[in-house]
Amino acid sequence: MSEIKQLEADYLIIGAGAMGLAFADELLKHDKQASIVFAERRGMSGGHWVDAYDHVKLHQPAIAYGVNSLELSESKTDLSSRPQIIHYFERISKNLVSTGRARFLFKCDFVGEQPLDKGAIATVASNIDEGVSYRIHVKRKIVDSGYMRVEVPATHPPRYKVDGDVQLVAPNALTKLERSFSKYVVVGAGKTGIDAILYLLDNGVIPERIQWVISNDMWMWPREMAAPNTVGDMLSGQLQGLIDNAEIDDAFLQMEREGIVFRLDKNVQPTKWRCATVSMPELEQLKSIKQVLRKGRVARVSTTHLHFESGEEQALSRNALIVNCSANGLAKRRAKSIFADGHITLQPILVCQQVFSAAYIGRLETSSLSDAQKNEVCFPVPHPENVEDLPYCMVNSFENLVKATRIIPWWLYRSRLNLLAQAPLFILVKVWLRIQRQLPQARRALDQVYVHNQLEPVQQTQQDAKRA
Ligand SMILES: Cc1cc2nc3c(=O)[nH]c(=O)nc-3n(C[C@H](O)[C@H](O)[C@H](O)COP(=O)(O)OP(=O)(O)OC[C@H]3O[C@@H](n4cnc5c(N)ncnc54)[C@H](O)[C@@H]3O)c2cc1C
Repeated sequence: MSEIKQLEADYLIIGAGAMGLAFADELLKHDKQASIVFAERRGMSGGHWVDAYDHVKLHQPAIAYGVNSLELSESKTDLSSRPQIIHYFERISKNLVSTGRARFLFKCDFVGEQPLDKGAIATVASNIDEGVSYRIHVKRKIVDSGYMRVEVPATHPPRYKVDGDVQLVAPNALTKLERSFSKYVVVGAGKTGIDAILYLLDNGVIPERIQWVISNDMWMWPREMAAPNTVGDMLSGQLQGLIDNAEIDDAFLQMEREGIVFRLDKNVQPTKWRCATVSMPELEQLKSIKQVLRKGRVARVSTTHLHFESGEEQALSRNALIVNCSANGLAKRRAKSIFADGHITLQPILVCQQVFSAAYIGRLETSSLSDAQKNEVCFPVPHPENVEDLPYCMVNSFENLVKATRIIPWWLYRSRLNLLAQAPLFILVKVWLRIQRQLPQARRALDQVYVHNQLEPVQQTQQDAKRA
């Protein structure tokens, strides 16, 4: 038995994660006529947080997370926990529905579209009843909020082979462990791996029982600096690092001397930078792990050994538990034009600030600018992976912000998702003047020395949208 339900809305938003919700919040606030249908594969709003491990927290302050219209926390330092974040997303969804202009289709996949002269007919199918689908007349635009492809270990299998009898878990299992293991082998050095180590240490596991597989070391941001009064200094210090140095490694070393980035081991020069944010006390805890395996990426795990892509091996102790933290939570996706041909592809326009970016794009959508003009003021900033990504991330982000201040300065200043703007006015003005002075020099450094962020040609973007 099959049933095709007919719906109509101005916008179809694919995905009800943080970015889709932050976009919708602004859109409905500034366009009192607009209506939205969300198609969400999961059973509720919140995106990857729905499947994240229990002990996950934000790694940046909650005062600048979520949507503009609703506080997540009033505290300047609070890092909300998963239950708080899920509850928050539930409240936002209710608020959106209560406008009478938003509707959520959960357990549904966006499966395709047929373009019309104006708008499109989109098909959305239930993933729990193969007979049910929706034919949605989208009068204005289809908004892709799943483009960033956030991965969490619970929904993504390991990136290496695992023999059948290996004891391997996702970090979600840590809160449910009921016995002890001879060793806990944490595979992955990103935010999830760090969280797994901190959870084990906080819950009494001694450092000697933990082995940490780090395929590449990374630079980290000190959380103490990622606060309203200091974030401007941190970002401006990074611009200065680029201006003063012709080698990216030297730029990071200068930033380290100034206390705006740090690393796990002073004897190892990191090759990665992925916006991981860690507090000083957490860094000290991480340093207590002495069994750090730096042999490259894991290729296979057998009951007796870790086998690395490099060909090296590491013996495993009997009764070891492998904690797989290898999912890529912040994948580096190719930059696509954000506004293109009846489509909006949500991407960061400020480095690693997805929710602020989505809200900004939502606000821009309600302006009278053409798509070309909107693209001019929001150049996508893909998530960084390597140290070489720092220059374009910083320069493109600040160029976007400078352009934004010319169009919607008041919105920028009032946006609670803009951590910079939450500083007292005198700090904000001081930092802003400094950054404006630095930006042309940093742009020259980017043009002459460093790697550019290439925007995918619009034609390609349109073909992709049609294929989707
Ligand atoms: C552990 C962790 C901690 C983080 N901490 C912070 C932090 O402190 N501060 C911060 O700013 N950022 C943080 N981030 C970054 C975080 O990724 C973003 O803040 C944000 O939650 C990402 O939301 P999203 O909407 O882009 O993606 P998702 O959460 O992945 O949401 C996208 C949704 O789209 C749905 N979807 C995709 N394709 C389809 C389809 N075809 N049909 C239907 N539905 C579809 C998916 O099911 C998903 O629910 C963190 C990330 C991780 C992994």
